[in-house]
Amino acid sequence: MLVNLVEILKLAEEKKCAFGAFNTPNLECVNAVLAAAEKLNVPVIISHAELHEEVSPLVKIGPVMIQAAINASVPVCVHLDHCENLDYMARALEIGFTGVMYDGSILPYEENLANTKKAVAMAKNYNCGVEAELGALASREGGMANASGPVYTDPDEAVIFCKETGIDALAPSFGTAHGIYKSRPVLDLNRVKTISRKTGLPLVMHGGSGVSPEDYRTGIANGLRKINYYSYMSKAGTNAVKKLLEKEDVTFFHDLALAAENAMEADAENAMRVFTGL
Ligand SMILES: [Zn+2]
Repeated sequence: MLVNLVEILKLAEEKKCAFGAFNTPNLECVNAVLAAAEKLNVPVIISHAELHEEVSPLVKIGPVMIQAAINASVPVCVHLDHCENLDYMARALEIGFTGVMYDGSILPYEENLANTKKAVAMAKNYNCGVEAELGALASREGGMANASGPVYTDPDEAVIFCKETGIDALAPSFGTAHGIYKSRPVLDLNRVKTISRKTGLPLVMHGGSGVSPEDYRTGIANGLRKINYYSYMSKAGTNAVKKLLEKEDVTFFHDLALAAENAMEADAENAMRVFTGL
């Protein structure tokens, strides 16, 4: 069943756990994530990143995601990830997305604030929740290094930002990075606790792939309610395809797609177990 970002984060708050937000740029990802969520009977967020527009146009994958969410036996939020362009956001809202992340983290504070306010005003007309980012991760979405390096979120600035914008969820910067980690990340999970306590809002972890289970658990205990997870799931799909091709000469692409889908489902299931404490 299709639910919005506010509703799904409320469920996470009630259970004091986090739900996974998985990018689903193609049907295999949508199938894999929803199959895992239905198997475990846990709510889930499926996301489309503006960054993936070239490999997966919003106008094509968006309606597929919405229909899959409606058909699912568990609550599913269909979310726009890292949207930097408000026109793009308007298109997602028209398609029926129930969550959007406006990402103005690369902009000066005042501009981020002004644009996030606009995003909240737009989303309100569509019964859609809004996530925003304050501070900057060590890498941009897609794993490219952030030129200016990470900027950890200041808890007091976060309080003002959340109050002025009226957002529903905040993605703070506390040491995670997008993409595949080269070494184990060092996270400032006390900062998460402080921001959670001061803002009273559900918090979002970006760059959720590759974090240790104990860091996930502490982060969730400290207020993380949505964990963005994609790179490692996608890599699991790629590895399954490689393995199959090493073993046999495959003719049909659908056989490769199915192998990838099954491997991504298993990886997503593991992640969901950690996030929800199952
Ligand atoms: Zn992200």
